[in-house]
Amino acid sequence: MLTIGWLYPQLMNTYGDRGNIMILQRRCEWRGIGVEIKNLDLGFKIDDLRVCDLLFMGGAQDRQQKIVSEDLFKKADVLTRMIKDGTPGLYICGAYQFLGKYYKEANGTIIKGLGILDLYTENPGTNKPRLIGNVIIEIQDLRFKMYEEKNHKSSIVNRKSSALVGFENHGGRTYLGKGLKPLGKVLHGFGNNGKDKTEGVMYKNSFGTYLHGPILPKNPNFADLLIKCALEKKYKKSIELSLLDDSLEYRAHQAVLKKQNYHAWRF
Ligand code: GLN
Repeated sequence: MLTIGWLYPQLMNTYGDRGNIMILQRRCEWRGIGVEIKNLDLGFKIDDLRVCDLLFMGGAQDRQQKIVSEDLFKKADVLTRMIKDGTPGLYICGAYQFLGKYYKEANGTIIKGLGILDLYTENPGTNKPRLIGNVIIEIQDLRFKMYEEKNHKSSIVNRKSSALVGFENHGGRTYLGKGLKPLGKVLHGFGNNGKDKTEGVMYKNSFGTYLHGPILPKNPNFADLLIKCALEKKYKKSIELSLLDDSLEYRAHQAVLKKQNYHAWRF
């Protein structure tokens, strides 16, 4: 049984981010794992956050981010503790920016971040383009690779890919402090800032990324990694998830690779 907390579904939910919740729920249910989704909207009760085993927060435009930030700050202590204790979570775009020190809007307004991670984001304004398009990144985390090897050997899914695919649309450029690991290396697209080839961030079991799309249905191994981490933390033992038939999901994954001429990459 997993309790999944969906932070600010009404305001932080753009470019298909809702699909991530659907895929987490379905992949649990297909395996007989019970799921409760807690919608944690503005003014939610702190106890509803405390009981969550897995967290998800999507992206938004600046206006919504500003509204959410006030409420989020009231919950900052609990959320920070949970992230530091290793509660797994996926934070997309605007939500990813919240994990850092601040997000500077195009007009110079600062939206304070939770400061959990040593990163910051600045939107250089209208003289610089938004970073939009398909993204392909090479995963840096060995935990993904181990899972893919297992999938690869199974008769159900005989493909593997060390890439994550998605779609980005952001004005902010994110810069990671020296001690932080990115989620991946950009093969195609812009990623964190369009310059240093980093994309996203990993910290314990939390992942920040610019990949919308939604990301999890096109990268089912990522969904499973989150589910596995959540179950292992909750039940304090190592858990092997049963394999699912991911052929459709991998076709979607491959379609993005193919579009950008990466279809032969590491298959
Ligand atoms: N407002 C942020 C930016 O443009 C986040 C956008 C998003 O979440 N898609 O950088």
